[in-house]
Amino acid sequence: MDCRCGDIRRCRSDIRKINYAIVLMEGLRGIDMTIRSDLSSLAGDNFMYMTPYNIGNITETESQMHKEIELQTSNIIEMLKDKEEYLNDELKDMEDEDYDYHHRDDD
Ligand SMILES: [Zn+2]
Repeated sequence: MDCRCGDIRRCRSDIRKINYAIVLMEGLRGIDMTIRSDLSSLAGDNFMYMTPYNIGNITETESQMHKEIELQTSNIIEMLKDKEEYLNDELKDMEDEDYDYHHRDDD
């Protein structure tokens, strides 16, 4: 058993960074949803000025882009959450070990 205070501090800092990355990724997903609804209302507003081909083209391109972004952001968020869970387990083990180290003289 060793003192793990330094490792615990680094691990907590990594968990905070991963948490922040998850928040950013979820924000990106939100921006994508906003773009999607803005674009569809834009297509609606300009319906009279655009040829049906253009409207179809924009909607289709946006729809593919949206699917791709949704898929990628979901994958990344899932990976980050797995990593976070793993680090939380590691942290718990290190805290137990550290607790034993600092309290071993109590016996
Ligand atoms: Zn310690």
